[in-house]
Amino acid sequence: MKIKLLTIFSLSLILITSCHSQVNMAESEKKPLETKNQNPEIQKFILDNPDDGEPSVSKGVVSNGTLLNGKLLPYSGSNFQYFADVSFLKGRAFVHSSVKKIVVDSYKILETKSSNHRFYLMESSNKCGGKLDPHKTHQNGTSIDFMMPLLKNNQEYIGLDTIGITHYLLNFDDRGRYSEDTLVKINFDLVALHLLELNKVAKKNGMKIGKVIIKLELKDELFASIYGKELLSNGIYFAQKLTPLINGVHDEHYHVDFEFIK
Ligand SMILES: [Zn+2]
Repeated sequence: MKIKLLTIFSLSLILITSCHSQVNMAESEKKPLETKNQNPEIQKFILDNPDDGEPSVSKGVVSNGTLLNGKLLPYSGSNFQYFADVSFLKGRAFVHSSVKKIVVDSYKILETKSSNHRFYLMESSNKCGGKLDPHKTHQNGTSIDFMMPLLKNNQEYIGLDTIGITHYLLNFDDRGRYSEDTLVKINFDLVALHLLELNKVAKKNGMKIGKVIIKLELKDELFASIYGKELLSNGIYFAQKLTPLINGVHDEHYHVDFEFIK
């Protein structure tokens, strides 16, 4: 199932370009973290896509929509990083201006609450929105995938964070343990904390979390975490029913749709 997904991803990365500039792909996920920001193609792409400060406009819905004046997510910050250069350079890291602010401000707050954990952003939207294969949604700049933070023997584990686009193919069991090494498991405390902060900051910016998609079997673990009760009482909506395909791919990341408060 996930191999098929990778094929679609690969084709998408080859065929789909953003609505503006086309850049050459640079596969540099295997470079050490500290050198990633030195990638000249990343630097050029950031310079080519400056934030003009004008607000974005999301049109339609996450499964059928577009994005006007989309903003490029930061490639990295003091405690976060985009997960795959090839995806970033293909223009798959754009969002609505309000969502960008929410994501960045939330990471700032987490700096004081999450023991210096480095978070990883995964795919969001094309610069002008629209179809972002193989995602069913991600069309109007209000959807983002976030990489699951991991633990090994209850210590922070970063061994899988920098594998690039193939991260989407990792498998975790119903208790959140990695299929290839069951000592590695999802840090549900941190996922819950992140979701709470995202929702709090969203509300300060006229938005809220509209929906979280996480493998259904993992919700028990998430709600049993130290922030689980608060998460449950927060009114954040979690997808209740998913097709086996969609359910199966939401184990190594959590998908968030933001929406404007009416
Ligand atoms: Zn998603």
